[in-house]
Amino acid sequence: IMPTHLRFRRRSFLGLVFLFSLSTSALYFIYSAPGIVNEYLFMVQATGIQIKQNVRNIGAQVLEQVVRGGYSLNGTDYAYDFNVSESDVPVTTYLPGGFTYLPAQICPERLPSMKGRLEVNMSEIALEEVERFLLNSEPSMSLGGHWKPTDCVPHWKVAILVPFRNRHEHLPILLRHLVPTLQRQRLQFAFYVVEQVGDEPFNRAMLFNVGFREAMKDLDWDCLVFHDVDHLLENDRNYYGCGDMPRHFAVKLNKYSYMLPYNEFFGGVSGLTVEQFKKINGFPNAFWGWGGEDDDLWNRVQYANYTVSRPPGEVGRYMSIPHHHRGEVQFLGRYTLLRRSKERQGLDGLNNLHYSPLVSRRLLYTNISVSLSRKLAPIADYY
Ligand code: UDP
Ligand code: MN
Repeated sequence: IMPTHLRFRRRSFLGLVFLFSLSTSALYFIYSAPGIVNEYLFMVQATGIQIKQNVRNIGAQVLEQVVRGGYSLNGTDYAYDFNVSESDVPVTTYLPGGFTYLPAQICPERLPSMKGRLEVNMSEIALEEVERFLLNSEPSMSLGGHWKPTDCVPHWKVAILVPFRNRHEHLPILLRHLVPTLQRQRLQFAFYVVEQVGDEPFNRAMLFNVGFREAMKDLDWDCLVFHDVDHLLENDRNYYGCGDMPRHFAVKLNKYSYMLPYNEFFGGVSGLTVEQFKKINGFPNAFWGWGGEDDDLWNRVQYANYTVSRPPGEVGRYMSIPHHHRGEVQFLGRYTLLRRSKERQGLDGLNNLHYSPLVSRRLLYTNISVSLSRKLAPIADYY
């Protein structure tokens, strides 16, 4: 047992170290502050070059850059960095309000109709009412919630896949919120609600695999968005197209105090091209119950040498509809499976999945009902 005076000494020594490190960082701050201020002023000047109503007065070169920027995500698209402060976020340029694009041209990815911050309405509503409202404002929507822009050629054909069981109050809220946003983003899209029936624990990942296979029978989609039914984006500049790299859209959630819970977090809403999804053999089928399947997808993406990209700053904000986990079970075996992500990747996924779905069309989405069980995704010679 340490004598009292020694213990005290030790503690005060630690206190001293703490004080010392505090004062050095304070000194460092004062020392480097002028530099920071200069850098800040420079950035304010740089970001000050914005397109307002007086587009015509600004040089043609600037306009050209803006137009080019409006057509691609490159430049703002980067892997999430915990150390990036909001002011380091690259300047995004959106096309000016009066900008007209041609019906024969690819739709830009940064449209003037994408205004940024959105109102989120979480009040409950009947599906029929949402159908009425959305079809009224966009009569060109067709059965299954198919829509595509006519004033330009959509850059991406996006299948929105929603895993589903017993969340009937959430679905109309999601559709009311997301459909008009995707239309403003000038994407071609349709919704696929993949509903698990039967008594097995919920299997979000396997439902996505089923949804993918069924959606591809419908249309030659090139981009897949894997979307929780209870996630509502807060910013319409969170573009639901795909990219060179798999994307994670739901970066900052209200339920996690708008912070990414950990760097490898890949849950909520993510997007892969069909090519990327096939290359990683889809989602794993072996995750029964809550948790882990999104981490496994993250691992698969890494093993295929992709780097996940995320929207910058406030663009990746989401609100999720509060709900309970009544009768839903955690998947306790997830850590064991995650340790074997790499060797399981080629064995369990799109390539070992069998199922028989029941497909029906509703006005705003295609419903795929499927009874899932473990024997539908066998792994030969593994155990
Ligand atoms: N889900 C569902 N019914 C369930 C469990 C999950 O429809 O019983 C779907 C739904 O799309 C949900 C997603 O799977 O948004 C993720 O599950 P959950 O919301 O329970 O996860 P958490 O909110 O804990 O992240
Ligand atoms: Mn949820």
